[in-house]
Amino acid sequence: MNSIKQNIEQVINQIGLAAEKCGRDAETVQLLAVSKTKPIAAIEEAIAAGHRAFGENYVQEGVEKIQYFAQQGAAPALSWHFIGPIQSNKTRPIAEHFDWVHSVDRAKIARRLSEQRPADMPPLNVLLQVNTSGEDSKSGLAFDDVAALADEVAMMPNLVLRGLMSIPQKANDYDSQLAAFSSLSEAMNKLKAKHPQLDTLSMGMSGDLDAAVAAGSTIVRIGTAIFGARDYSTKQ
Ligand SMILES: *Cc1c(COP(=O)(O)O)cnc(C)c1O
Repeated sequence: MNSIKQNIEQVINQIGLAAEKCGRDAETVQLLAVSKTKPIAAIEEAIAAGHRAFGENYVQEGVEKIQYFAQQGAAPALSWHFIGPIQSNKTRPIAEHFDWVHSVDRAKIARRLSEQRPADMPPLNVLLQVNTSGEDSKSGLAFDDVAALADEVAMMPNLVLRGLMSIPQKANDYDSQLAAFSSLSEAMNKLKAKHPQLDTLSMGMSGDLDAAVAAGSTIVRIGTAIFGARDYSTKQ
């Protein structure tokens, strides 16, 4: 089995090839290592390999990891992204500890995050999660609702609206993956007419990274390809 360091190198290599294929500069695609369910030791290995940006889905687990690395004093350069579903009674620890939130899809959640962001921290970077697959069961905004929420979030004092995120319905063929990501890319371009400062499209996971880069992703969220398969037996 490959080490985490080797896996990170492989993923960076894959991003480079995908970027080259579509004439993009690989530097414009950031790798977010999704460490949910993985132990501190795995994150330490990634840090030792030079990696700094981590994504977490569960509030308590994420906060524990952030606090651990803060106590180590080795943390100032790390950045932590919350990418999971958000319950309104869990916004405070997210606002108090994370640097980015990718999964905002309601004004109520955004308002709470802004109100609860501590004054001595920089504004929280926010992405709106869009449901590109139109399934009722998934979280995320409908395309028609993106502009209104973006206008609201852009006014909130302790948030910085940075762009859009999506988790499309799983598809194994490149063309379907590309179609879903391109629809998010188009939504972003429309939004930029009114919010030209937007610069972040969070899309692409281990199984669909190439299509995401081709469609303009600027953050790919990679878990399995770096840390291996996840064991959910300890999660409800
Ligand atoms: C778990 C997760 C990922 C990582 O998925 P992999 O397929 O393991 O790369 C990315 N984004 C979100 C929102 C996730 O929940």
